[in-house]
Amino acid sequence: MTPERSYWNERMETVSPEEFRRVQEAALSRQLDYLWEHSDFYQAKWAAAGLERGDVTGLDDLAKLPFTEKSELRDSLAQHPPLGSHRACALDDVIRVYSTSGTTGNPTYIGLTAHDRDVWMETANRAMWSCRMRPEHVVPLPIGTFFIAASYGEAIEHLGAMLVPVGVGATDRFLGAVRNLRADFVLSTASFPLYLIDYCEGKGIDTRRLGIKGFMVGGEPGGGIPQVRRRIEDAFGATVRECMGNGDMLGLIWAECEAGPGMHFIGQGACHPEIIDPETGESLEIRQGLTGELVYTSLDRECQPLVRFRTRDHVLVVRMECECGRTGVAVSCIGRTDDMLIVSGVNVYPAAVRDVIGGFQPRITGELVIELHEKPPTVRPPMKIRVEHGPEPGDLAQLKREIEHLLREKLIFPSDVTLVPAGTLPKFEYKAKLTEAHYEE
Ligand SMILES: [Zn+2]
Repeated sequence: MTPERSYWNERMETVSPEEFRRVQEAALSRQLDYLWEHSDFYQAKWAAAGLERGDVTGLDDLAKLPFTEKSELRDSLAQHPPLGSHRACALDDVIRVYSTSGTTGNPTYIGLTAHDRDVWMETANRAMWSCRMRPEHVVPLPIGTFFIAASYGEAIEHLGAMLVPVGVGATDRFLGAVRNLRADFVLSTASFPLYLIDYCEGKGIDTRRLGIKGFMVGGEPGGGIPQVRRRIEDAFGATVRECMGNGDMLGLIWAECEAGPGMHFIGQGACHPEIIDPETGESLEIRQGLTGELVYTSLDRECQPLVRFRTRDHVLVVRMECECGRTGVAVSCIGRTDDMLIVSGVNVYPAAVRDVIGGFQPRITGELVIELHEKPPTVRPPMKIRVEHGPEPGDLAQLKREIEHLLREKLIFPSDVTLVPAGTLPKFEYKAKLTEAHYEE
């Protein structure tokens, strides 16, 4: 018997720092040449910034190029339909178009050529292997077909596992795949397994007997929160590993290994990550303990290559080296600028509130809602939070005091916690919504 492979692409995933730089630099140079020749969007943008071809030749010069903002992509799409002036290939060469969820305004459209699809599949396979998906697994995919996450479907097939598309809002079909097809490895948002726990509880189904061996979760910070993870692992007797991509950039770019927590960069040769100071825009030297906003540059894309694209995702660098042998830096996602709240001048991510409050389980269920009485990000103190208590919470007034005290101690803001009975807060099957608007637009 041959020993099991440890990586999907050993050469790329274990590349030395020197070789990594060579790989990224060569690809960057090709991508920039391609953009100077094919992208109306970047030709105009760079000309406006006073840049000429040849001004940026390598990674050291990358910071000379201006950032690309999501709003620019929206404008480009609106002014130059169907795929914007940042489309850099012939429309005939586009084989697929995804849309982002469009939580604010119109959705953005992401086109892929056959080559782009292959690149997306390659990094998705590296991430899946790292998160312990194997060819023997049967993988139900509870994700809508129009999202970029649907591209994971063909990557699951390419890895050699058995794909069972089930779609969103079809929990019975999902459980049917588990029972009838012995589906045993799930790729989903972090909210989905939590939703499944409640759903099964309501139907009297023992989650531990479903036979699910692993979850690979992404799309929101939940999978990185220890209490959330433990709850899923305990309920299913399964491993939970986290992954992260970017809808406008590349399906999967980061993935956790067995040594977790923290997700390795696995996008070598496909995209280049930078971490910037979100206030000043300065590109920071990547080192352990660094926090900042992720910025990506495409390295091997034909349809809509993006250069220095600001993601608004904030990360913490947790590891520069790892026992698994992967050399990609490992990060954890702290939250998104879009979600960030400001209480008395302090930045607070809703995911961090959930993280802190989660420590009170089982006296609480882990479900909570932050009430927004003004237009975010500003929250006038105290922050009003409704928290579900568990079946045996003890003295409620005491519990409320303890939660408020811990929030003040850990996140440095005053709160006003209202405890509500288990099962009374809204549940989300796709992505958790931790805030609730109580203000007029
Ligand atoms: Zn590792």
